[in-house]
Amino acid sequence: MPRREMMKCLFVSESCVCHTDLAIKDGVLPFPLPAVLGHEGSGIVEAVGPGVKHLKPGDAVVMTFASCGHCASCEHERPSYCLDFGAQNYSAQRADGPVLLSQGDEVISGFFFGQSSFSSMAMAREHNLVKIDALVDDAPIELLGPLGCGVQTGAGAVMISLDVRAGRSFLVLGGGAVGLSAVMAAKLRGCSRIIVSEPSAAKREQALALGATEVIDPLNENLVERVQQITEGQGCDYALECTGLVSVMEQAIDSMAMRGQLAVVGVPPKLDATAAVSPLALIQKGLKLMGVIEGDSCRVYSSTSCTRSSRLGVFRSPR
Ligand SMILES: [Zn+2]
Ligand SMILES: [Zn+2]
Repeated sequence: MPRREMMKCLFVSESCVCHTDLAIKDGVLPFPLPAVLGHEGSGIVEAVGPGVKHLKPGDAVVMTFASCGHCASCEHERPSYCLDFGAQNYSAQRADGPVLLSQGDEVISGFFFGQSSFSSMAMAREHNLVKIDALVDDAPIELLGPLGCGVQTGAGAVMISLDVRAGRSFLVLGGGAVGLSAVMAAKLRGCSRIIVSEPSAAKREQALALGATEVIDPLNENLVERVQQITEGQGCDYALECTGLVSVMEQAIDSMAMRGQLAVVGVPPKLDATAAVSPLALIQKGLKLMGVIEGDSCRVYSSTSCTRSSRLGVFRSPR
């Protein structure tokens, strides 16, 4: 089946701004400009191509990142590590079809994350759409766009990548949309302590409202000392680094308990940044350090788990 027959149009009812959109705008991540960005879209399917199997006009969907659907990572339900991820999400044009966006003779870059959803209409493939009709009763469609990137990055890191267990301690570095989504997921998993380090007082308040048990102001408190104090010298069993700051990642390593697990999702402002990690510290404490893209989410997981979690009233919009 030609790929273009998998395309569909949909009306985008809302698309939220993610940190990655800002990184493109600021030139931190390469993408040819001018461009239509946006990769947290949600809306109603307007029309489908003849190759589309599981969606029909009128379906409510959340748009997520694009993947090829047939490489080794995609076949093992880890599409965020798609071997063709760069071309699928950052190529600026469809590889298999005509130019989608232009102004006069000027070609406008699009198909960002397979959607470019800062628009009233967008094209996407079935691979990067999640049908969410079970959620519509519980939440307005225009609030669900972040499920496709920011929320699944934080919540997926907790529930899939780290597979956080009940009764354990969890440290979140950075209380933005990703970090707060992780807080909600950690609460759902029954963590005994959920500690959030965040310089913004307003975000610390939000973290407490969403389930954090303690908050730390890293500008006025020593992060490592406070974590040790809160955990009575044990350190944290799990941590999620969302800030992209190398110094924070290094402090997170020093805050871990024996056999702790640290997941890193924050992209550093300088892409070639490196961190100082002591191999001996990793060995002596038996630490696990992992990088995570999009919370290791896949469509099947996103649709079932987020639906269930929403019905439990656990996930609320972190905005
Ligand atoms: Zn994003
Ligand atoms: Zn793939």
